[in-house]
Amino acid sequence: MTITVTEENLNQDQDTIGLLDEKNTDLWNELCKIQKIQIKRDEFDNNGEKCEIYSVDYGNTFPTIHVPKHNLNPAIFTHELLHIYLKTKGIRIGEYIIEVINHCRKTNYCNRLFSSIGQKEINAILNYLEHIKIIHKFISLQYNQDEFVHESVKQLYENIDLNIIKNNFTCTIFNSKHYRAEYIILYLIRYFQLKSYQLAKIVVEKQLTELKKINKRFFGILENFEKSWEKLDYNDKEQIKEYPTLVDRFLRDFNKWIKLKRITCS
Ligand SMILES: [Zn+2]
Repeated sequence: MTITVTEENLNQDQDTIGLLDEKNTDLWNELCKIQKIQIKRDEFDNNGEKCEIYSVDYGNTFPTIHVPKHNLNPAIFTHELLHIYLKTKGIRIGEYIIEVINHCRKTNYCNRLFSSIGQKEINAILNYLEHIKIIHKFISLQYNQDEFVHESVKQLYENIDLNIIKNNFTCTIFNSKHYRAEYIILYLIRYFQLKSYQLAKIVVEKQLTELKKINKRFFGILENFEKSWEKLDYNDKEQIKEYPTLVDRFLRDFNKWIKLKRITCS
């Protein structure tokens, strides 16, 4: 006799106590039918300090959600589940952007700029882009917008300092204006970070105005991309095919903006 392990059993051995409530149980069950998800309760973070942060690590075969052992919170757990949910919808913008960046590193005239993006920066951008997509589903599950991120994160971003970008975005070398690659990248990261937290009701208007003042044109290019990305309906298979076009359009506008500028890397 063969015993068939049904898909529904995939995550049965996972300890979900303290992480599920009446709002996220259906989502959890839905995801359990699709793939294995491991839950790991962490007491300490990599620095040996009390773990506070939730995260997802995709590993080689299945995702692992890290939850702080002493801070079980169904809303934040749902936030992480939704990152996984988005991937099950066929939105693989992450892989696509990495492909684009690698291509630019080899062939683009602003390859020096793209060379200054590391994996950490790419992950940050992807994370914030995903937030822009998942916040709506989070709200539709009846959670409050302001439960989307942890209190400690809120304080951090309401007080974020943009002076470092303001003071270093451009510099003068031999009487000509140069744009500094790492601050263009930092600008880009901050933009998506602030936008994604704005959706989570964190008050970041002042910082967004500051970013706009640093470079209005660049701000506009990022804003166009972000708006079209936010509008994309991942439940519509036809629209999903469109997201590489969004990235390509963004890249075209970005290239146009950067084309005649002198870029410097430190
Ligand atoms: Zn997140």
